[in-house]
Amino acid sequence: MDLIESRSIFSPATGFIRRGGFAWTCNPYVGCTFSCVYCYAAFLPQNRRPVEDWGRWVTAKTNAAALAGKQAPKVAGQAVYLSSVTDPYQPAERSLFLTRGILEALVPHQPRLTIQTRGPLVARDTDVLRQFRSVRVNVSIPTDSERVRVRFEPKAPPLAKRWDAVRELRAAGVPVGVCVTPTLPVEDAAGFARHLAEFRPDVLVCQDFHDADGKFGADTGEAARALLAEVGWGPADYRAFVDRLSGEGLTVYEGEAGFFPPPAVEAAPGRGLIDDVA
Ligand code: SF4
Repeated sequence: MDLIESRSIFSPATGFIRRGGFAWTCNPYVGCTFSCVYCYAAFLPQNRRPVEDWGRWVTAKTNAAALAGKQAPKVAGQAVYLSSVTDPYQPAERSLFLTRGILEALVPHQPRLTIQTRGPLVARDTDVLRQFRSVRVNVSIPTDSERVRVRFEPKAPPLAKRWDAVRELRAAGVPVGVCVTPTLPVEDAAGFARHLAEFRPDVLVCQDFHDADGKFGADTGEAARALLAEVGWGPADYRAFVDRLSGEGLTVYEGEAGFFPPPAVEAAPGRGLIDDVA
């Protein structure tokens, strides 16, 4: 793992994140060792290494928390997306505490915070997350199948651990989104839909998986084609799955439509932050 000192920790949001209503992005790391084979971040200009090396390296911004301490006032009350080109809860975070340090620095300034992660480690920071008035933790759970997960996200945490994390966050009162994105082949559509309906996330996002033939996007080229053929999953199956979710009474946001900040929440008059979350 490389270590760097960064000049800034909050960047103006661009692209679909800006269109979704976010003002800022925050990336404590560059690169990501979860190694999702469809990851769009591999194709972004922030990745200065060969696309083929994506998933094999991560660089930590060692001064991330100190920078956040200085720069957090400029994002006060605004929508912040953490993170856009990395996963803020990848293995290195367990010992580096960079994401946690940023959260602690942000609390006094109360941005409208969205965490986007595949890492169950996010549950470690439940105590800090509870101190935000406007927050949502989006956990990516793109399939019900470990067999599929291992093929597409070989080094990311098992699905069961992600479900454990969303339950723990929910139990602590932290709003939780579930991102079935990109929607990978599903083995038991009825069972997965029932599971999602029972959990009833605060926001549910799906996004059709497509093979973009090795170009930018949710794509794995040959690997995607082989697996999609093997499990017999295609656009009609995706549509039927989304319809099934709607049939369970769930509101499904598709693709970019699902990436929006949590609503603004005003502080209750005369109450401090600790009172708000007690
Ligand atoms: S966890 Fe996110 S940033 Fe990391 S490889 Fe997967 S999609 Fe990319």
